[in-house]
Amino acid sequence: MEMHMNVHEICRICLREVPLIDILKLGAKTSMWMSDINSYFKVQLTFDDDKSTSLCKRCIGKIKTWRKQVERAERCQFIVDYLDTVYQKQIVGGEIKKENEEK
Ligand SMILES: [Zn+2]
Repeated sequence: MEMHMNVHEICRICLREVPLIDILKLGAKTSMWMSDINSYFKVQLTFDDDKSTSLCKRCIGKIKTWRKQVERAERCQFIVDYLDTVYQKQIVGGEIKKENEEK
């Protein structure tokens, strides 16, 4: 029995066959994609990989969405830090206690 599946024409992550994007052909962005694929899927692609270095659009999309969520979380930390600073000042100044007593 012969296997006709081309091991280089499947998504490295989910085995789908189309449409594929070869990560090694993304030029300057290839390293960043390799790093993000490893962070997100725990799969490490290499430049001399014998296995498929392609991902399907769905898996690529998951990483794009994840990147946006990470960026958003990062931006939100500024607000979290600010709120924490305000809160800490109120505790030190006894303002929270005072407000509660007045009500
Ligand atoms: Zn996939």
